[in-house]
Amino acid sequence: MTHGSIFSAMLQEFDGAARILNLEPGIWRILTHPKRQITVSCPVQMDNGEIHVFTGYRVQYNISLGPAKGGIRYHPDVSLDEVTTLAAWMTWKCAVAHIPFGGGKGGIICDPTKMSRRELEALTRRYVAEIIDAIGPEKDVPAPDVNTDAQVMAWVMDTYSMHVGHTSTAVVTGKPLELGGSLGRREATGRGVMIVTREAAKHVGFDIKGATVAIQGFGNVGSVSAQLLAEIGAKIVAVVDWKGGVYNPDGLDVTALIQHANVHKTVNGFATGERLANDQLFALDVDVLIPAALENQITANNAASIQARVLVEGANGPTTPEAHRQLHDRGVFIVPDILANSGGVTASYFEWVQDRHGYFWTEKEVNERLEHKICEAFDDVLQTALKYRVDLRTAAYIVAISRVAAVTRMRGMYA
Ligand code: NAD
Repeated sequence: MTHGSIFSAMLQEFDGAARILNLEPGIWRILTHPKRQITVSCPVQMDNGEIHVFTGYRVQYNISLGPAKGGIRYHPDVSLDEVTTLAAWMTWKCAVAHIPFGGGKGGIICDPTKMSRRELEALTRRYVAEIIDAIGPEKDVPAPDVNTDAQVMAWVMDTYSMHVGHTSTAVVTGKPLELGGSLGRREATGRGVMIVTREAAKHVGFDIKGATVAIQGFGNVGSVSAQLLAEIGAKIVAVVDWKGGVYNPDGLDVTALIQHANVHKTVNGFATGERLANDQLFALDVDVLIPAALENQITANNAASIQARVLVEGANGPTTPEAHRQLHDRGVFIVPDILANSGGVTASYFEWVQDRHGYFWTEKEVNERLEHKICEAFDDVLQTALKYRVDLRTAAYIVAISRVAAVTRMRGMYA
């Protein structure tokens, strides 16, 4: 099996922590191989009558701690390498969050912006039918990711339920509330980002009230992070998305910006601010920088321009290993993705628990439990970083690898 650069980047992160732990070679080998990689072809009759065959993947990287958990991504750049890496990150993220899930991820190579709703539904249902034997509440529980949402999850849940012959809400999370979704789930990743940013500011020694924040990406993660950080007094001065950006040193009106983005599908053109490009965002003199778009955004090419004191990785894998090294050496406090954006999977776990009990919590209960879990994870990682004198990413991997390795040893080898 060959792996491209993203998987190699993940392995570099893994190896650094595994060396510190003196991980035995056998466990090392197990934890650096995906357990199961599924590739499927999904024929779909398009609206113009033509048949297109889309390639889809589902990877279960490691399921020692419980069912695989991870989103499904619809994007033209999806690849097996990317899905495998994202599934590995989910493994470490669930372990850091201390929830009983393994890591999985799915993706379909497609451009949903060029597809009708009917085509998307047909593609989703065919994809689920192709991977049906591999998923289920006890096996593998998908969720939304880039370009998939609650409606797509409703189709996943319905297709699975039709196949097994009964309604199975716990097969997927991020569903609409009416279908067994959880209150607070939609906001949970952004809420987690807000909590770790607040805790990071406390640790680094500045007040989050009045702190300046720049955010790349204004989708689910970016917009909710912006809103909740503004609610605790932070000043969101800049936001960019795929079409452009906006900057206002006095602070953007986040509620108005969300309304603008809902209407125009971009923050570009927002009235009360100057236009701003991606690279300009990274170079702003702000307290906190939050990449919340896609992977590989902060690289050796632009790391030197970054002035933020705290970098909170809302997105998965936004910082390359080289850029991470440079920033860490310059004293930037980096809250790594597998900790920073673990609020989403933690609330997904809450949704799965509620579905299995058939008993639903209030939004207050969800948010309080999320606050508790994220603070506990932040503290576990910070204490590990201080104990081993390492950066937070290495510390998060140490926490995750220790937990997955421990159960792997206990369970022993089945042969
Ligand atoms: P989304 O599709 O809702 O939003 C993505 C945002 O990024 C959009 O505003 C888009 O315009 C912007 N964007 C895309 N390409 C860009 C580019 N080249 N430059 C600048 N902006 C760009 O996605 P999301 O759910 O918010 O996810 C964002 C990231 O967070 C992804 O890496 C995802 O894997 C990760 N994540 C999401 C969740 C979740 O619960 N949604 C949980 C954990 C991690």
